[in-house]
Amino acid sequence: MYELNALEAKSLFQKGKKMTEMLIDKIEPVTTAGLQQTPGIETYVPAGGQPVLHCENIEKVYGSRGNITRALDGISFNVNKGEYVAIMGASGSGKTTLLNCISSIDRVTSGHIYVAGRDITNLRSKQLSQFRRDDLGFIFQDSNILDTLTAYENIALALTIKKVPHREIEMRVAAVAEHLSITDTLKKFPYQLSGGQKQRVAAARAIITNPSLVLADEPTGALDSKSAKMLLESFDMLNKNLLATILMVTHDSFAASYTKRVIFIQDGKIFTELVRGDQSRKEFFNRIIEVVSFLGGENNDVL
Ligand code: ADP
Repeated sequence: MYELNALEAKSLFQKGKKMTEMLIDKIEPVTTAGLQQTPGIETYVPAGGQPVLHCENIEKVYGSRGNITRALDGISFNVNKGEYVAIMGASGSGKTTLLNCISSIDRVTSGHIYVAGRDITNLRSKQLSQFRRDDLGFIFQDSNILDTLTAYENIALALTIKKVPHREIEMRVAAVAEHLSITDTLKKFPYQLSGGQKQRVAAARAIITNPSLVLADEPTGALDSKSAKMLLESFDMLNKNLLATILMVTHDSFAASYTKRVIFIQDGKIFTELVRGDQSRKEFFNRIIEVVSFLGGENNDVL
């Protein structure tokens, strides 16, 4: 791999920052007119705007006959562009099922899920893998970065596969790495990184392709509190500076307090939602704790 000296890295970062801004400028609201529609795929365009994610009365039923589990029972909500939203709920409430359906790993029994205006519940397997590659970024509890690649190579992989020019990849990786404070770790292999650094590499990998939606599944679950705080601050930065739209499933009230809105689910239904508004993170945390306590959870554990 070509090695950058400090000056080159700095100049690349400046260029990368500009490019990121240009890319953000280029993102246009999706309209029906602008969409390449595949026959059979419906397009949802609500009045007054385009949510990145629109879940419409989704149901997921497992099992058959006498042994049915209604994991999702008529869930509807939107996530708008640039939002940062948490999904909370007790164990067994349907969080994983919901995330799996949105990420198209699992299929809904009924209802529709629209991502960037496209109904993903109707997609066939080839279109699904394209959708996951182009529209989604994933961050899991375990970073899932590849052990045999350096941090740089892990972050760059999706762009390399897409045959993005080498120079552009370097600029984009440098820019995202700077935002996530992992520039110093780019040449290292995963075994040389801390858990928190690995998660920030995973966040960089998720965001590098400019996905419509970043899905995070308990991203702080395996981190100590200091690393968790750093990762949550990184997410906040990705949301504010790079306008990433993030949907995070978490049981942790502290993690949820970094988001702008928390949707609580119970027994496969939306129980309530809290919007942060102008409140400080701490005030929002206290309100989250109240709902968690009302639902019968331990503040740091059950939800
Ligand atoms: P959470 O992530 O909030 O803990 P899940 O989405 O994993 O909840 O589960 C919701 C409900 O669906 C639970 O009652 C669970 O037992 C059930 N469930 C999840 N996956 C399956 C499956 N593959 N087969 C049968 N039941 C399932």
